[in-house]
Amino acid sequence: MIKYLNEPVLRKYEGKICLLRIDLNNISRLEAVVPTIKLLLKNGIKIVLLSHRGRPSFAKATAGKPHSVDKKLSLRSFVPILSRKLRKRVRFVSNFRFAIIKKEIVKSENGVFLLENLRFLPGEEKNDIKFARRLAGLGDFYVNDAFAVSHRKNASVVAITKFLPSYAGLLMEKEIKSLDAVMKNFKHPFTVIIGGAKISDKIGIIKHFWGSASRRKADYFLLGGSPANTFFMAQGLPVGDSLADRKTIPSIKKYLKNRKIILPSDVKIKRRRILDIGERTVLWYSTIIRKSRTVIWNGPMGMFEKKEFASGTKGIWQAVSKNKRAKIVVGGGETVASLARITRIHTDKNGLIRIKHPHKSAKISTNPRLFLSTGGGAMLEYLSGKKLPGIEALK
Ligand code: ADP
Ligand code: MG
Repeated sequence: MIKYLNEPVLRKYEGKICLLRIDLNNISRLEAVVPTIKLLLKNGIKIVLLSHRGRPSFAKATAGKPHSVDKKLSLRSFVPILSRKLRKRVRFVSNFRFAIIKKEIVKSENGVFLLENLRFLPGEEKNDIKFARRLAGLGDFYVNDAFAVSHRKNASVVAITKFLPSYAGLLMEKEIKSLDAVMKNFKHPFTVIIGGAKISDKIGIIKHFWGSASRRKADYFLLGGSPANTFFMAQGLPVGDSLADRKTIPSIKKYLKNRKIILPSDVKIKRRRILDIGERTVLWYSTIIRKSRTVIWNGPMGMFEKKEFASGTKGIWQAVSKNKRAKIVVGGGETVASLARITRIHTDKNGLIRIKHPHKSAKISTNPRLFLSTGGGAMLEYLSGKKLPGIEALK
């Protein structure tokens, strides 16, 4: 059983130190963990924030210098943002001298500390037990609020739970409960929309939702982004310099001729690269989305950061947010970021999706059946029924 942060738990740890794993990879994820931080503070609990950023390389690490420090991947820049959001000074810990840090935390009154990027230490991604033990020594209990990294076997996500009483934070709780609700009695037609850049991850999704004996069976896979390009390539179509992954072709061959797989009928191209789905495709995909009763979406349809290649993703957002009869889950760092950037759709402070109509500014509709997940890979793995190591570790 996963333990959540309820009243008795919070009371028990008053005056104690919480090691709170969060995900600072993306600003929208930072917003999402603020409620948990505030809840802990309100209950007189000191907090050490644990996170990672990017994938620092260890090429330059030498015997005398155990960790690599890539300034660009430092978490220091989050200190002012966090301090502003919490209306409280957040102290940054740039070294990993745990004994000294511990003394400071114990001394502090209701303090919030942010540790430097844990991936600067090789033990983090190796889920190293010794490193986890040292980390655990900093606090009295552990809370995981980093749903988006729970599919990774990292020391601050998995191994650390061996040494401390461990709980799921508010964001983790919301993710688990909302995603469970979608998968319970899901209805057909069930549509999975896959776009974005990380190719190999996404091909796995098709396999998971293809369904064999399992009930988790999608009826349509609408493809965009690099997954679509990779399918085009597998069909022997010319894709020029488009983002695609030749290595995954053998594993997608078996899906090629299946009617469940739906590929763009037109695309936008610039300098030999396919960078968005075309208008006809948006209309076609929208018809399928409209009649769906379950929709899962990860990965933008095109390079939405450039205005000329944003219309595919924008069109899909329109169709998805207007479908009020379906249970919908949309997740992924860039996918969710695209919502704020290119549409008039936004989330209000209660997490409800609101759609502003361009000419009827007074009329704002909501879609309570649409859930925005902070997870991309983690969300897809969770929905496909896989056990996520970070969540299993909380049981
Ligand atoms: P998420 O973060 O939502 O899981 P990904 O990280 O897989 O999504 O992919 C997001 C990125 O994919 C975006 O930055 C977008 O520009 C890029 N992308 C989407 N389609 C294409 C394309 N056809 N060619 C190149 N890049 C693309
Ligand atoms: Mg991404």
